[in-house]
Amino acid sequence: MFKLYNTLTGNIEDFQPLNPNEVRIYVCGPTVYDFAHIGNFRTFLFADLLRRYIKYKGYKIHHVMNITDVDDKIILRAVEQKKTLREYTDQFTQFFFEDFDALGAERPEEVLRATDHIPEMVDLIKRLESNGHTYQSEGSTYYRIGSFGRYGQLSKMNFEGNVAGGSDRVDADEYDKENVRDFVLWKAAKEGEPFWDTDLGAGRPGWHIECSAMSMKALGETFDIHAGGVDLIFPHHENEIAQSEGATGKPFVRYWVHAEFLMVEGEKMSKSKGNFYTFRDLVSKGHNPRAIRYLLLSAPHHKQLNFTLEGLRGAESTVERLNDFKRRLSELKSEPGSTVEIAGIIERARTHFGEALDDDLNTAEALAAIHDFARETNTAMAGGIIKSDDRKSLLELVDSFDSVFNVFGEVKQALLDSEVQALIDERQDARKAKNFARSDEIRNQLTEMGIILEDTKDGLRWRRK
Ligand SMILES: [Zn+2]
Repeated sequence: MFKLYNTLTGNIEDFQPLNPNEVRIYVCGPTVYDFAHIGNFRTFLFADLLRRYIKYKGYKIHHVMNITDVDDKIILRAVEQKKTLREYTDQFTQFFFEDFDALGAERPEEVLRATDHIPEMVDLIKRLESNGHTYQSEGSTYYRIGSFGRYGQLSKMNFEGNVAGGSDRVDADEYDKENVRDFVLWKAAKEGEPFWDTDLGAGRPGWHIECSAMSMKALGETFDIHAGGVDLIFPHHENEIAQSEGATGKPFVRYWVHAEFLMVEGEKMSKSKGNFYTFRDLVSKGHNPRAIRYLLLSAPHHKQLNFTLEGLRGAESTVERLNDFKRRLSELKSEPGSTVEIAGIIERARTHFGEALDDDLNTAEALAAIHDFARETNTAMAGGIIKSDDRKSLLELVDSFDSVFNVFGEVKQALLDSEVQALIDERQDARKAKNFARSDEIRNQLTEMGIILEDTKDGLRWRRK
């Protein structure tokens, strides 16, 4: 039985979807104002593993992720760069998915942009209004948390004392609110900022309402799993429950699952400490995306993960070893037939793997199952006992494990835009230094990767073939 720790109840529970054939899951997506960092990707890869394991268990899946494409930081930067909200967020959405794909994550069935769902958000706020959960102040609409008796049930926080929140998502105009924990649903338009003209007045949605509106639109008023990082439990997910259940009167989500923090070299990741990495920083230093994936999945999601460069080098040799193992197995010459010992190896590995992931997605144990399996199979290869049917079954098992982890196989490294640019810059420098051998070498490398260079009147441009 597949068991998951549910933040809402504080228990490890048997997982059973509402509809026995299809699991409906919502994952809070990125706020597209900058490149995503590896802490963000720990959560997205955890969600990817969860998604893949649900499919491994034989369910169909409907997985929805949002793109937050309107918020204070986005507006600030778009204005700075003289871009429309769409222009600014389109580029970072594209960068996000380049990274997402390079990390071997499967795209969700639906990716929904917040600014495409303003009418749904307005409707939801109006339902909350008619249920008595809101009030207006200075043109903004707020959620009165005192009107929702179960507020605090997810985060297990006590709201007796009105302690001001430490979250930067709390609306800055706190003097407008009756209670410091009340949160904004609809923000009145401010001078120079984008806004939508709606029944609620001119303004824009708060962050929390977007997830309630889009998840329920795509998945129904009650669905199976809602996932995200632990940093979202409060206030974001707590507020989502208040909004959704305050409007519908029905349970919103059945299983809340959260991925723990990522530490880097034993410390909280921060730009000031110099231990802050985007995925692209690591790739540009020559690290293998598949190894980054391996490392980010190597600790179970309910434990903090300490990401170190030494650990990443270790993951690189592990991933190489696994690929090498698969290649040797594929190329193995074998006699017809099958062997009972190999059936035993397969059975043990499959059971070990499934028991580990059934246990609240214990990825460390599931990877141990894969390594034990590879070791036993290596011994069998060395002993020459593998027959052709065995080889086929062994390879099928590798593929079935890999449908969950996606760390085997040749690494087809999708080249990121930033890397292409770095190579082009290096080539320009080489030409200036009259190092034509290096310049040609880079040109050939780019050609091989399907990158075409063009001299235009605006200078050197590149495109993909
Ligand atoms: Zn969300």
